[in-house]
Amino acid sequence: MSNDLEQLRQQLDSINGQLLELISQRAEIAQEIGEVKNKQSINRFDPVRERKMLDELKSKNEGPFEDSTIEHIFKEIFKASLELQEDDHRKALLVSRKKKPENTVINIRGEQVGDGNLHHVMGPCSVESYDQVMDVAKAVKRKGINLLRGGAFKPRTSPYDFQGLGIEGLQILKKVADEMDMAVVSEIVNPADIEKAVDYLDVIQIGARNMQNFELLKKAGEVSKPVLLKRGMSATISEFLNAAEYIISKGNGNIILCERGIRTYEKATRNTLDISAVPILKQETHLPVMVDVTHSTGRRDLLLPTAKAALAIGADGVMAEVHPDPAVALSDSAQQIDIPTFEQFIDELQAYAKR
Ligand code: PEP
Ligand code: MN
Repeated sequence: MSNDLEQLRQQLDSINGQLLELISQRAEIAQEIGEVKNKQSINRFDPVRERKMLDELKSKNEGPFEDSTIEHIFKEIFKASLELQEDDHRKALLVSRKKKPENTVINIRGEQVGDGNLHHVMGPCSVESYDQVMDVAKAVKRKGINLLRGGAFKPRTSPYDFQGLGIEGLQILKKVADEMDMAVVSEIVNPADIEKAVDYLDVIQIGARNMQNFELLKKAGEVSKPVLLKRGMSATISEFLNAAEYIISKGNGNIILCERGIRTYEKATRNTLDISAVPILKQETHLPVMVDVTHSTGRRDLLLPTAKAALAIGADGVMAEVHPDPAVALSDSAQQIDIPTFEQFIDELQAYAKR
């Protein structure tokens, strides 16, 4: 009896070997087909052809397996072959660490973002006037921060809210930044504006509402300015990475990812800061990661604790909004901090970073 079993097992082992050889041969042919299709730019997945192959197999099936079982087994083989044919980009995104193990360090007017030191981005929500930006820039610069933010094109929820000063806002930012030797970070919302905006800014910000504006992403990928890409308010991490991939696939790999909170059912904060996104993004990509504590929390009392959390968890910097007189700000008046509060915030954050 045990001899019989042994013999049957040997037969199975031998058939396993033959099956392996055959599916490997099949895989090699599938790869060749993939190359041919690639050259002819034909879609690799051909559902009509698959259906024909499955029908033929079923018509030849004499049991003991059910037709549905045969279909299932072969469908798995087809799927595995298709994966073999997929191009390298699908297997590993250009933004992934798999593709590039070392950190991307972005030089922004001498600031090496991603070098392991902290590089914060501070400034008003919107550019309102030269004096307003200058007041904030001086305070920010005094704290050793060189990346100055300010919105000139504002993507507002209501069309009746302040939409920003547009190019004039960028001109103000540039004038202040040149006088203070700082770099400008400012949002662009329209692909058509990128070309003229690059003369005024050092970093193109793409905001949460535009994270999947693919035409904007592609256009930003075609210029040589660094891009600060914010996570969409209901974007998964995978969607966020694919948005960054749109930029890098066009040739621009200088991308800073910015977690700015996502929309959940929680109402205690404006958004829910997904703090664990930071180490996930750091692990999965080679790009610098920042945390916007203003838009994620919408609460001044939470800026410092969330900023500390961001540093503790590995962020490359923090973004926050500062206004000389938040009460009269034209946007986000409830959550911007005034200059004395900013100074205290940065002192405490810097002390925490040195601990
Ligand atoms: C901003 O940073 O100015 C802004 C509008 O933020 P978000 O796109 O994250 O809402
Ligand atoms: Mn704002």
